[in-house]
Amino acid sequence: MRVINFNPGPAGLPTAALERARDELLDFQGTGMSIIEHSHRGKAFEAVHNETLALVKELLAVPDTHEILFLQGGASQQFAQVPMNFLPQGGSADYVVTGGWSEKAVDEARYYGTPRIAANTVDKDKRFTRIPTQAELQLDPKAAYVHMTSNNTLFGTQWHTFPEVGQVPLVADMSSDILWKPIDVSRFALIYAGAQKNIGPSGIVLVLVEKSFLAKGRKDIPKIFRYTTYAENNSLYNTPPTFSIYLCRNVLAWIKGVGGLKQVEAWNREKGELLYAAIDRNAGFYRAPVEKASRSYMNVVFRLPDEKLEEAFVAEGARAGMVGLKGHRITGGIRVSLYNAVTVDHVKTLVSFMDDFAKRNG
Ligand SMILES: *Cc1c(COP(=O)(O)O)cnc(C)c1O
Repeated sequence: MRVINFNPGPAGLPTAALERARDELLDFQGTGMSIIEHSHRGKAFEAVHNETLALVKELLAVPDTHEILFLQGGASQQFAQVPMNFLPQGGSADYVVTGGWSEKAVDEARYYGTPRIAANTVDKDKRFTRIPTQAELQLDPKAAYVHMTSNNTLFGTQWHTFPEVGQVPLVADMSSDILWKPIDVSRFALIYAGAQKNIGPSGIVLVLVEKSFLAKGRKDIPKIFRYTTYAENNSLYNTPPTFSIYLCRNVLAWIKGVGGLKQVEAWNREKGELLYAAIDRNAGFYRAPVEKASRSYMNVVFRLPDEKLEEAFVAEGARAGMVGLKGHRITGGIRVSLYNAVTVDHVKTLVSFMDDFAKRNG
C-alpha cells in the first residue's frame, strides 16, 4: 500500500505516472527492452525526449522566444551555472534573498563576480518569514540579472506577485513550485527547476531560457557548462539521464490528462486553504510563523507548543500512514509539502488528524 507522502523532495509522484513506468519497464512499446536500455540517439528515446519537451511547452505555454532545456547537476549546479554564463567580467548581479536556497545561490555567484543583495528578508532569529515588497527592492538598473527564488522550500514562503525589475533580465529558481499553476514565462529571462519536487525524479533540471538572453552568455567557459551547448543540441549534447526524462514525460502526461495546470492550480489552492484553515482554527495549538500574504501553497510550515509534541505529531502521523511531516533540520517544527502528487483527499486526512491531535493534546 502506498503511504500519504508529504516529503519535501524527492517527493511523491503521481501513482499513474509510476504505474505507467511499471507497465512499460521490461518491454517499452514492443521494442523488447526497457527505455533505460535504449540509445539516447535512437528513435524510441528521441520520441520520448521530444514528447517531454513538447509537454513542457504546452503545459507552461512557453513562448517561442524561449528554449526548453534539460540539464543535470541539480538546481544547486544552476546556482553556479547562471553566474558562470551570465555574469560578465567585472559585472554584478542582483540577488533577492528570501531563504536558504537563495543564500546558496549568492554564495556560488561570489566565485564569478559581485552579487549585490537587492533585498534580504532574514529576521533577527535568522528566519525567513516573508517575501519582500516591491518598495523594499534596491535594484541596480545595470545589473546583469536579478535572481529570485519563487518558493522557499525550507521556510514556507512564496511570491504571489512576481517583482517588477524593469529592463533587467529576471532569473528565478522555481524548483519547488514550478507547475503548481500557470505562469507567464515571458516575464523571465531564465527559469530553472530541479525536477524532484513537481516534475519527476531527482537528477535533472528543467531550464526555460530566453533566446536573446542566451545570446549574451559567455563563451570563455567550458562547453559542457554553456546553456547554448544544450540549446544547439536539443539537450542531447551528451548522454542525458534518459530514465529521468522518461519519468518526467509520464508526470507531465498525467498533468495534461487531468486537465492541465488550471486544474492542478484549483487542487493546490484547495489543499493549501484546507491546511491553513486547520492551523488557524487551532491557533492556540498550531502556530504558523509565516506572514499570511507570503504563505506558500507548496510547503506549509508550522509549530506545536513544544518539541516533544512535534515529535509525537510526526510519529503518530506516520502510524496513520502519513510520512514526511518533520520540518527541515535548520527550522525544526512541522513542514507539509503539498506538491502536485498530493491529493485533496490526502490533505483532508491530515487535517482531521490535526484537529484530533490538537483536541487530545491542547
Ligand atoms: C530542492 C531545491 C534546490 C536544490 O535542488 P538540488 O537538485 O538538490 O540541487 C534548490 N532550490 C530550491 C528552491 C529547492 O527547493
